[in-house]
Amino acid sequence: MAVDESIAASLGDVRGRVSTEQSLAPRSWFRVGGPAECLFQPADADDLATALRRIAPEIPVTALGACSNIIIRDGGIPGLVIRLGGAFAKIEQDGDGLIVGGAALDVTVAETAASLGLGGLEFLVGIPGSIGGGVRMNAGAYGSDMAAVLDWAEIVSRDGTLMRLETSALRFGYRRSALSDGAIVVRARLRGEPANPATVSARLAEIRSAREESQPVRARTGGSTFRNPEPEISDMKAWQLIDAAGCRGLKLGGAQISEKHCNFMLNTGDATAEDLEALGEEVRRRVREKTGVSLHWEIKRMGLRASGAKGEKA
Ligand SMILES: Cc1cc2nc3c(=O)[nH]c(=O)nc-3n(C[C@H](O)[C@H](O)[C@H](O)COP(=O)(O)OP(=O)(O)OC[C@H]3O[C@@H](n4cnc5c(N)ncnc54)[C@H](O)[C@@H]3O)c2cc1C
Repeated sequence: MAVDESIAASLGDVRGRVSTEQSLAPRSWFRVGGPAECLFQPADADDLATALRRIAPEIPVTALGACSNIIIRDGGIPGLVIRLGGAFAKIEQDGDGLIVGGAALDVTVAETAASLGLGGLEFLVGIPGSIGGGVRMNAGAYGSDMAAVLDWAEIVSRDGTLMRLETSALRFGYRRSALSDGAIVVRARLRGEPANPATVSARLAEIRSAREESQPVRARTGGSTFRNPEPEISDMKAWQLIDAAGCRGLKLGGAQISEKHCNFMLNTGDATAEDLEALGEEVRRRVREKTGVSLHWEIKRMGLRASGAKGEKA
């Protein structure tokens, strides 16, 4: 990628950390992907707002969380890439809920809620992402999701305005929200309910062991690859359609469909983002051919292909 040094230069005297062409692969669960053209780790929300006001409106801005639901393409991510660090990982009790930073990990939020005797947030223990990514994706499991527990989210919009959005403004749907491109979630309030800490901790343990049994949680993966189809399209879940199309264990280059849970893709060691994306497309093709159902990606694919061609930001 030809690096535009003017992006870093236009950030001026921001207090956070700025770097160019830093590889993103080690940060991603899949361990694939090229560099960020300009990576910025803001010192706090004001610093982030200042940065977004300073860069030209045509520069694309991409937020990264724990990178547990994305394929970063091999050519890297152009423009400004924002990664929230420790300053955004605070978790504080607020009556019957928690006020959490956008970089707080879902797992830590679930554990903190348990220790404070707050129930209702247990589902977060099985989701290896951050609160920011969880709000963006309306992350959910075990019958609950972010939409069900979120009171508000504070975001810094692409033009550098800090604002608080109520849940209704985020128009949550299944694994999606209406958060606009370039908007960064910096803080949120999650609602719980008083509960016995031992009971909540026991539920966390149950969820963890159910996960270990059914998902390749220690692998280089990106979680559910495809959304489950709407009930009016198919009453089969995505994994059942993939299984029916004979794709369990299917390999392409270093990418493989998990034998354990066939809606999960794996990097078996030397996969490229191109391998993973091509394998996903091959699965979509086979499922369509066998069942007539078109699967839709849940994993976000972002950035440029190795050739430098712009892939769509899905
Ligand atoms: C083993 C495994 C199991 C999983 N199980 C589940 C599950 O049960 N349920 C579920 O819903 N998901 C699951 N996932 C997927 C993933 O963990 C969730 O989607 C998670 O919420 C993504 O958060 P993240 O911080 O990793 O976001 P990323 O993967 O980094 O990004 C995902 C999207 O969120 C955006 N984003 C990230 N941070 C911010 C921010 N601060 N502000 C605005 N936008 C942001 C990114 O731009 C991108 O569009 C699983 C993944 C793995 C690897």
